[in-house]
Order: sequence, then structure tokens, then C-alpha cells
Amino acid sequence: MTADAPPESIARSVAIDGPTASGKSVVGRAVAEALGIGFFDTGLMYRACTLAVLRAKVNNEDDANVAAFIQSLNLDMRWQEPTDPRVFLDEADVTSLLRDPEVERTVSLVSRIAEVRDELVHRQRIIASREPVVMAGRDIGTRVLVEARTKVFLDASTEIRARRRLGEELDAGRSTNFGEVLTATRRRDDLDNTGHRAIKREQAAADALVIDTDALGIDQVVEHTLAHYRAMNGAA
Ligand code: C5P
Repeated sequence: MTADAPPESIARSVAIDGPTASGKSVVGRAVAEALGIGFFDTGLMYRACTLAVLRAKVNNEDDANVAAFIQSLNLDMRWQEPTDPRVFLDEADVTSLLRDPEVERTVSLVSRIAEVRDELVHRQRIIASREPVVMAGRDIGTRVLVEARTKVFLDASTEIRARRRLGEELDAGRSTNFGEVLTATRRRDDLDNTGHRAIKREQAAADALVIDTDALGIDQVVEHTLAHYRAMNGAA
């Protein structure tokens, strides 16, 4: 392999981008299961870094400090099952702590820092160089796995995304309502609309398949993605 050639595992990986609550995780998990490869939710990595920042009480407005702290973290992603990525901080599995409201509130502040993104993009590429993955995030097709043959961008209106998120929140036993979730979805979009992240279809990679998911069920989005994967990888 020449220095310029991307590893085949990156070329064969699937890049999924889209705004918050667009279905990246549920679709990514199903696609990973169908292909028998790992689902890599990069949002979990940003969340784990945020948890570490909060625990260590690092001032999240001091960009250089936050970046240096994150560069030094002992952070790992591991899979016991392909559809269930687990995040380890200092060898402890912190995955179940990553939907905590304080992490929710702070994650966009940590992830907007350019040096933090550089560090995590680097770590994400190393993991995808080892074996193909289905990777979900906001900069996967444009930055992390630019050489991936299969890229999809999941789009959905703000109202539909808020309705989906409301269902998840109520299922998880949290008390909330549509108005609250809609406001939180808009806030997350505003905060994520910085730093070369693709949260609108016009920001998607030029070679991404844009799937408008408003009127589609999950199975249909998964099928579109798998059909695209087969077409891009020369499978029948
Ligand atoms: O996807 P999820 O909502 O779990 O991501 C949490 C946050 O992490 C996002 O709102 C965004 O701020 C950040 N993120 C990012 N780039 C990614 C994945 C997540 O900036 N590739």
C-alpha cells in the first residue's frame, strides 16, 4: 500500500451524517448488524470527553486547556457485540452515563473546539483503519472517513426530529413535552452548526447520498443505505 492509499477498511466503511435525532444511531446499528461490522457512534466519544471534562472540573471555556486535557485522556471504544459500542475512560465503561443532562448541555461546547475535533478525528481514523465500521456523526463523510465509498446524509425536519426524540425521552421514563424537546433540538442544531460539521443537507459530502427521512420508516432508510453500500462496493 502506498502512503496515499487509504486502508481498504476505511474505503469499505459506511459514513453516516445528519443532525441530532435524524436516526443515525438506530439506522447505523441496523446497517452494522446487516453487514456484520461494528457500529461506531462518534457522538459517544464526544460525550465521554465531556463527562471527563465535567468530572475534572476543567473550565470548558478555556479551549487550550480542554484540548490538552482531552489529548491526555485514556479513552477507548470497544465492542462485545457489533451493535453495542462501549466507551471506556481509564478502563471503566462509562457508556451508561453519557445521556446525563449535564453532559447533554455541555457536549456542544466541548465539541466546538477545533483541537478537540482534530484529536478525536485522528483517534476515529485509527480505529476505522483496523477494520471496517459503520460510523455515525456530523463530520464523518467530510472529514473522518473521506475515502469511504458509502456515505449517507440523513435529513429530517426539526419537528419530525423533535417528535422522534420526545418518543425516546418518554420511553426512557423522563418527563418532558413536545415544546421542551423542540426547543432543545433547535438549540443543539444552533450549537452544532459550527466547526465544519454537516448538520444541513447542503453541508453534506458532495458524494453522499442524501436521504430525506421525514416520510420513511427506519426499515426503508436502512434498506436505502444497504442498497447504496452494495452499489458502491460492487456487490449484487
Ligand atoms: O450524536 P450525538 O447527539 O450523541 O452527539 C453529541 C454531540 O457530540 C453533538 O451534539 C455534537 O456536538 C458532538 N458531535 C460532533 N461530531 C461528531 C459527533 C458528535 O461534534 N462526529
